[in-house]
Amino acid sequence: MDPFRERADKSDMQLVLEKSEKPKVDDRKMWIRIGARSGHTLLSLFVISSICINKHSTIYLSATNGDMFELISFAVLVTLTYLFYLTASLMDPGYVPIQSEENESDRITLIKSEQGYYCRWCDQNQPLRSKHCRDCGRCVRRFDHHCPWLGNCVGERNHRVFLLFLLFEDFLILRCIQMLWEAIYPAEDIIEWIQYNGILCVSAVILLIGALAVSALLCCHIYLVLHGLTTWEHVSHGKITYLRRWPEDNSPFNFGYCKNCYVFCCYCSTQNWEKYLKTLT
Ligand SMILES: [Zn+2]
Ligand SMILES: [Zn+2]
Repeated sequence: MDPFRERADKSDMQLVLEKSEKPKVDDRKMWIRIGARSGHTLLSLFVISSICINKHSTIYLSATNGDMFELISFAVLVTLTYLFYLTASLMDPGYVPIQSEENESDRITLIKSEQGYYCRWCDQNQPLRSKHCRDCGRCVRRFDHHCPWLGNCVGERNHRVFLLFLLFEDFLILRCIQMLWEAIYPAEDIIEWIQYNGILCVSAVILLIGALAVSALLCCHIYLVLHGLTTWEHVSHGKITYLRRWPEDNSPFNFGYCKNCYVFCCYCSTQNWEKYLKTLT
């Protein structure tokens, strides 16, 4: 009998329940994902169009005067940002392939080592730095976090694209704030001022919240990349077996700022992280 099964007796009923309820949960999660992507698209369209069709905005005035540079450069920025969003949202974040046949002796060794590299939901061995995502229902390599805004996990394969999305989104938000500030019409009467600038004020609130959230997230991810960590490893440092004996903000995968950036940006294939751990133990 599989020794893991013996140890996991207590959670067998839970597993049966989860499996029987899976179709309903999947449907709900699919709609949440569609809602998040549609919400992002509609919110972006509302803010961008509220600025671009405003008759006092520099982009509208320059386009009507035949100077298309501002409009084209802004359109390029919007397109790139949305492409990075869609790519990070729709691409495989690094799902661990489901293996139908597993080597029993390897499985037993991993359980005996008590490193916890086994996923009971996927019923298979789990590579180092991977974590099972309940929202995606799969183990994700070099798991960072599940992003509800993307409706997808951020993992080994799409982390770079996610960082690019944050960078471009931040540029776009700051550019929108600048254009919105220039578009405000200085009417003297308060009613007239609201008539001209009411929609811009709604966009300004959305942009300010977005600027704070995206800038904070961008800074956090730059910090994590520099330290060779993921969000999950940083938040759960003390609970992760392979990080316990390492001081906080450090890990066996911290090769120094330059090499961390190089590994993050240039290593496109999936990494054998076990190899790095073995060389250090
Ligand atoms: Zn799993
Ligand atoms: Zn996920």
